[in-house]
Amino acid sequence: MTIASVIVDVPAKQTDRPFDYLIPNHLTGIITPGIRVVVPFGPRKVQGFVTALKTESDFEKLKELIEPMDLTPILNQELLQLGEWLTKETLCYKISAYQVMLPAALKAKYEKKLKLSDEVSVEKLSDEIQAAFENRLIISWEEAVKLGCLSLLQKEVVNGSIEIIYEVKERVKKKKLKHVFSPLTKDQLAMEKEQLPVQAAKQKAVIDFFLQEEAPIELRKLLSEMGVASSTIKGLVQKGILSQKEMEVYRDPYEERRFTSTEPLPLTEDQQKVITPILASIEEKRNRNFLLYGVTGSGKTEIYLQSIQLVLQKGKEAIVLVPEISLTPQMVKRFKGRFGDQVAVLHSGLSAGEKYDEWRKIQRKEVKVVVGARSAIFAPFENLGIIIIDEEHETSYKQEDSPRYHARDVAIERASTHHCPVVLGSATPSLESFARAQKGVYSLLSMPNRMNNQALPGVEIIDMREELREGNRSMFSRVLLEKIEDRLKKKEQIVLFLNKRGHSSFVMCRDCGFVVNCPNCDISLTYHRANQQMKCHYCGHEAQVPNNCPECNSEHIRYFGTGTQKVEEELAKILPEAKVIRMDVDTTSRKGSHEKLLDQFQEGHADILLGTQMIAKGLDFPNITLVGVLSADTMLHLPDFRSSEKTFQLLTQVSGRAGRHEKEGEVVIQTYTPQHYSIELAGEQDYDKFYEREMMVRKIHKYPPFYYISLITVSHEELLKTVSVTEKITAYIGSRLSKEAICLGPVASPIPRINNRYRYQCLIKYKREPDLGLALKKMLDYYQKETASGGLQISVDVNPYILM
Ligand code: ADP
Ligand code: ZN
Ligand code: ZN
Repeated sequence: MTIASVIVDVPAKQTDRPFDYLIPNHLTGIITPGIRVVVPFGPRKVQGFVTALKTESDFEKLKELIEPMDLTPILNQELLQLGEWLTKETLCYKISAYQVMLPAALKAKYEKKLKLSDEVSVEKLSDEIQAAFENRLIISWEEAVKLGCLSLLQKEVVNGSIEIIYEVKERVKKKKLKHVFSPLTKDQLAMEKEQLPVQAAKQKAVIDFFLQEEAPIELRKLLSEMGVASSTIKGLVQKGILSQKEMEVYRDPYEERRFTSTEPLPLTEDQQKVITPILASIEEKRNRNFLLYGVTGSGKTEIYLQSIQLVLQKGKEAIVLVPEISLTPQMVKRFKGRFGDQVAVLHSGLSAGEKYDEWRKIQRKEVKVVVGARSAIFAPFENLGIIIIDEEHETSYKQEDSPRYHARDVAIERASTHHCPVVLGSATPSLESFARAQKGVYSLLSMPNRMNNQALPGVEIIDMREELREGNRSMFSRVLLEKIEDRLKKKEQIVLFLNKRGHSSFVMCRDCGFVVNCPNCDISLTYHRANQQMKCHYCGHEAQVPNNCPECNSEHIRYFGTGTQKVEEELAKILPEAKVIRMDVDTTSRKGSHEKLLDQFQEGHADILLGTQMIAKGLDFPNITLVGVLSADTMLHLPDFRSSEKTFQLLTQVSGRAGRHEKEGEVVIQTYTPQHYSIELAGEQDYDKFYEREMMVRKIHKYPPFYYISLITVSHEELLKTVSVTEKITAYIGSRLSKEAICLGPVASPIPRINNRYRYQCLIKYKREPDLGLALKKMLDYYQKETASGGLQISVDVNPYILM
């Protein structure tokens, strides 16, 4: 095999196919499918993926490829094929499909180095390699290439003596914190301790600590661990017994915790019933897709755990997807507790380097289970035994940039290759999945009861218009306030949920209703309290809040709507004795803070947990007996055919946080539209009725799951151009489809302008259009020149989840 087929890193129509390159002699054996290479491309050098090797090419006069970027494949055969599939399904470029499967560290801006593994004994390495390293532990990739001993190095990489590491080129600012250590020897320390007066017990205790511990310890940690005041440490520093210095901190949030290990629980009858077919499918190596429909608290996670257990016994691997926001430490704990260090965790809180480390553990088969958000679906396992998607209805499983894939579809594709089951779990399955289960495409597994048959919490719906009519202008209804006070008295805990999606904090004139909009985008500016500024969330435009209304000159212009901060302030006013923990993007932006706040709440350091979406999931604390939803309808009015479904799901999820253990729970939902079926039925926690009702609506309006939809969005700086291109596209696509398909457009997008670019769209609804993919691709190709220059943008989203 002397020729390599390479997909080059030039995302464009003309380059969206393999190019052939000759493999120079000294690289035979090193170049294999799935490794990245540098190749000449026109006048440039570009990166690419080797997809295949061959002996003949249809082209004459091939150029030689320049050098490999990897020594072992970073994409296995299955993933290379999955890339082809992604390209077809989402209409993306092949190069984007391959890139999306890799951790960021492998993408750009990283410096590659070769490092001797910790365990390796240098004498055993060949002379050439010893010479290359010259007593160093790490050499740069460039150096290795220059020395020309790549095939020797490759062998060592394969057998683990040498590792490839990636370092960020630009030095990111590293966090430094104050650390304390003792400059004295143990003997000196012991002497100092003797000389301290008897009453200096605290100082003596600290010295004892340093008699045991030599390494510097973070000051804050020392204080909390020893329970001493900073003055105690200061005293010792002044005496010269301790010293302080600024040191870098870097740690894996999960690494240093020890997870209490857990044993499989004896399953309930319900659980036994649903796990049986899953285990059978693992045993029989048969691909089946299960929808595990179980109310919150029905014990789905235990099903996941015990299914994985069988998979591991079979020597196979498991992928578990959870939505980013519920990838909480609690969730991780349950998997690490059961499977220990066989588990890798992939989530956005990790740095690129940490993510790469986790990915590498998977690739080297050091772990067997990965728990992660959407992109973990591409984990490079080679022997998958199960794929689990928890909260399968979550829209965050759909990627919004190219490749616009849905993790559920990728899961089903990979599982069919590996002949293993997929388990989609949810208390409120997406309409699409439930419909498929009804039709028998998925096998439906139901767990309608909570553990030990606790009742679902009682839900009360409060009409906030009524409250206003009766003179209550506060954001808390009287009922909710009463119940909060009651729980405070009983020392039980409360969760207050504020739905922040939608336009919840805009600036409005109370006299004339004028709302301050972004001058570039047709949406309202969001008010930010921290700097008293208004900001556009699409283009970043910032502005001062005006003193007077630009329309009517009234002074009554101010910010409207409720943010978590405002709720916190009001709580402090009316219930000054209540201790509140606020959880939102502001209070959880620091690494680990999410976990810390939850721990504090669990340990009872606060009465009320107040937060946004991020508290809707996964919380499982025994002392929560009241959940309040402050405004249920903010999401209901978004221009999206799924808004009722999303509202229902969210309210059901939030309600599920109450009374999961012995104590009974109650839920209060405040709303301005109590009669809407998604709110009413969430109150009754009746998914089945909601499903029926919503299916009717979908059928009438021809939406999924009755029809598929694809969305084409066109944007350009000129309105006329935008409209005319959308018009042409609509006409062209329409002419290529059967009579059953519906092609709606051109219409302005729900957000008609972003960053001074007009946006128009064409929405296609269809049942079966085998030629649609091709038509869309032709259309994209036709506009390729104009879109490549950036003037015109056209995006195609097959099965979109965001219609704005
Ligand atoms: P879900 O994932 O469906 O919301 P969980 O898996 O969180 O439900 O289960 C709810 C609670 O019931 C958890 O505290 C869990 O430890 C407990 N649980 C689950 N299965 C069993 C079992 N077979 N026996 C006893 N307790 C169980
Ligand atoms: Zn006004
Ligand atoms: Zn804007």
